Amino acid sequence: MYDFDYRRPKDLSEAGTLSRRDDFKVLAGGMSLIPVLKMRLARYAGIVDLGALDALKGIRRDGDAIAIGAMTPHAEVAASEEVARAIPGLHQLASGIGDPLVRNRGTLGGSIANADPAADYPAGLVGLGATVVTDRRAIAADDFFTGLFQTALEPGEIVREVRFPVPQASAYSKLKQPASRFALVGVFVARTSTGVRVAVTGAGPSVFRFEAAEAALGKSFDPAALEGLALDAAGLNTDIHATAEYRAHAVKVLTARTVVKCHCEERSWRSNPETLDK
Ligand SMILES: Cc1cc2nc3c(=O)[nH]c(=O)nc-3n(C[C@H](O)[C@H](O)[C@H](O)COP(=O)(O)OP(=O)(O)OC[C@H]3O[C@@H](n4cnc5c(N)ncnc54)[C@H](O)[C@@H]3O)c2cc1C
Repeated sequence: MYDFDYRRPKDLSEAGTLSRRDDFKVLAGGMSLIPVLKMRLARYAGIVDLGALDALKGIRRDGDAIAIGAMTPHAEVAASEEVARAIPGLHQLASGIGDPLVRNRGTLGGSIANADPAADYPAGLVGLGATVVTDRRAIAADDFFTGLFQTALEPGEIVREVRFPVPQASAYSKLKQPASRFALVGVFVARTSTGVRVAVTGAGPSVFRFEAAEAALGKSFDPAALEGLALDAAGLNTDIHATAEYRAHAVKVLTARTVVKCHCEERSWRSNPETLDK
């Protein structure tokens, strides 16, 4: 690790001023950034630790959305009854990230700013049509992830929170890469008042929507609606773990399974209506 200037600001405006400095980088859980520094893959003049910014932590219901602070660790999202009741798919997603150490240190903001092609949260954000709120503006999830490890964030821009609209039903499924537990393929399905959204992570260089499945499921929200559909493998990832063709097939299988999970959630709401938030 090279020497760097370490700062731990007490408020967001000080953090913003520091993060805009040339060659300064913000630090959240450090699960991705610290190894990069340790392995000398990158060098920064300064590190701006967001750990003291309590305003960036926590989960709250805000109208028809659940707002989650950027510095909220995955374990807190997984443990939140509010999230489990309102957006079961988000609870499933956070519960399946890495292992307990990763879930206790890794944060929502760090995960989405990092934009790893195999990360789980991008599927949740795009699947739910979430909004990323930064210290400068609001960005629709559909516009946030722009490529492999690329986002719409400008240099020094800090994610404050993500607003997840509460859907009618939602579920997440992933095929884990067994060593890292990242998603070989992950599929988030949400049924909303404006239609069905299906977001896929792990299969391509960045999260994407499976639009043919969205159209079919919009007509009939049933796994049978996916019969005859195929996802084109062109442009999908091929690596030592799986070919593009394997991933394309897995996306279709997981989408069908995730629709079944959504139906299970809806049935459980019907038998326990007091858990139905919306
Ligand atoms: C062994 C292991 C297994 C993992 N398994 C999974 C998995 O199964 N699924 C999964 O999704 N992820 C997985 N992860 C990733 C992990 O969950 C973290 O989300 C990820 O490492 C980054 O989060 P962090 O909070 O640690 O961010 P950091 O490492 O601190 O930062 C990552 C990047 O985000 C930037 N950043 C951080 N916070 C903000 C902010 N608020 N605004 C702007 N930029 C910001 C930093 O500058 C840096 O560029 C795994 C990680 C490890 C080490």
